Amino acid sequence: MYDVAIIGAGITGCSLAYELGKYNVKAIVIEKENDVSVGTTKANSAIVHGGYDPETGTLMAKYNVAGNERIKELCGKLDVPYKQIGALVCAFSEEEVKHVEALKERGIANGVPGLEVWDQAKVREEEPNISDEVVAALYSPTTGIVSPWELAIALAETAATNGVEFMLNAEVTNITKAGDVYTVETPAGNVEAKYICNAAGVYADKVNEYVCKKSFTILPNKGEYYLLDKSQGSLVNHVIFQCPNEKGKGVLVSPTVHGNLIVGPDSQPSAADDLSTTTEGLNFVRTTALKSVPTINYRESIRNFAGVRARTAVHDFFIFEDKEQKGFFNISGMASPGLTSAPAIAVDLVKMLGESGLELVEKENVVDTRKVNRFKHMSHEERAALIKENPLYGKIICRCETVTEGEIVDALHRPIVPTSIDGIKRRCNAGMGRCQGGFCGPRVQEIIARELNMPLEDVYQDRVGTVIITGETKEGGAK
Ligand SMILES: Cc1cc2nc3c(=O)[nH]c(=O)nc-3n(C[C@H](O)[C@H](O)[C@H](O)COP(=O)(O)OP(=O)(O)OC[C@H]3O[C@@H](n4cnc5c(N)ncnc54)[C@H](O)[C@@H]3O)c2cc1C
Repeated sequence: MYDVAIIGAGITGCSLAYELGKYNVKAIVIEKENDVSVGTTKANSAIVHGGYDPETGTLMAKYNVAGNERIKELCGKLDVPYKQIGALVCAFSEEEVKHVEALKERGIANGVPGLEVWDQAKVREEEPNISDEVVAALYSPTTGIVSPWELAIALAETAATNGVEFMLNAEVTNITKAGDVYTVETPAGNVEAKYICNAAGVYADKVNEYVCKKSFTILPNKGEYYLLDKSQGSLVNHVIFQCPNEKGKGVLVSPTVHGNLIVGPDSQPSAADDLSTTTEGLNFVRTTALKSVPTINYRESIRNFAGVRARTAVHDFFIFEDKEQKGFFNISGMASPGLTSAPAIAVDLVKMLGESGLELVEKENVVDTRKVNRFKHMSHEERAALIKENPLYGKIICRCETVTEGEIVDALHRPIVPTSIDGIKRRCNAGMGRCQGGFCGPRVQEIIARELNMPLEDVYQDRVGTVIITGETKEGGAK
């Protein structure tokens, strides 16, 4: 019997697991996929928002501002790529200047520090490649960029180190309650727990309704992106937004923490599992972004992708204990700024669990730091020392991103074990470069099979079923 079962291992579930790992609480995270961070957490703009955009008084405003601070601290402690590069919200007309000034006032009311409105000259000075049509901009110094999946993985690994269990490949198909105990049904086995935390992203309404009355509806909404090569990564210095509208924060242009340029997203109602990119969506993104930064070279595009927002009609997060089913908590409606907010929500959710009766005794000897070897960013001396210690760090597997076999092997022996090529990509960056894994993919597949002692054909590209090879083409082929 568990004290707490968390459903969903995105940034929301992993943040909560990390916080619960600090207490003598028996907790488990149940995830339908074969890895953590494979839902919306892996496909978004990766911005740590400042907090000027959400309506004052909403949960979004509260947790955005708190989460912005919290992420900075967590990324430092847990060795996650993060940069506080600031953001500009561009105004293209006098009307939009008023909008930008109103955003500044809202930001101040939300508690966002350091907001300024820059005139055209200042904008041009700081962003030489920005459009001449930009007449002013809101500057938000606390906005940052992060690697969202690495943050979720770091939180999950730390939680696991502190004793939280992770049950992967376990889709929750039903939940029942007898007395004070919930039974969570999955094909991988049932789990009994006193408290349930529903962090199932775009499926949170479905999970809620297994045992609670309908109280919210997720309206999935897709956003499509371009990811451009590092040759475009320094085109802008800040996250460049246009004025937000009723569809959201609009199309942005931003460097990524890995040195690429990200452009997107659009906003379209979609199915929860629709990760397709479309000609219309990408055309809209491309032309809209050129309005802010006219010299983006889309020939340097290395990937298109889409992510699905867990929106609701209310445009706020739903964070509550069900009125009738005591012990059942929803952390849902996690549309943007959900990534920024999740680590701060988790802190409060632990308090809410405590108020509901969960005994919270702090653990002694909690592990709260983490270090990852990133060969690419090491000095010559550091590299030499590492190779001497472990020669696998002398074998480059991904040439685009300079990722060594040592880093891949290390990732395969950390607390949450990746079993797919993309699982390694999310941990080590192998396959993130210009060739997108064309060269290193088969090598990574072999290393996974060797280290985890599994058949090569069982190593998938990403989710279960994304088969790469089905077996040898000829019996008795060369071994
Ligand atoms: C286009 C786009 C851009 C965005 N940009 C930003 C941004 O720049 N900054 C920001 O702060 N936020 C942004 N967001 C929002 C942010 O990405 C989300 O708030 C966040 O990733 C949600 O995390 P989550 O853990 O709640 O959901 P997810 O990451 O989707 O995780 C939910 C998990 O639950 C699992 N699950 C679902 N059903 C079940 C089941 N029945 N049984 C077991 N497991 C289940 C899923 O497999 C998944 O792993 C953006 C979102 C989108 C789509």
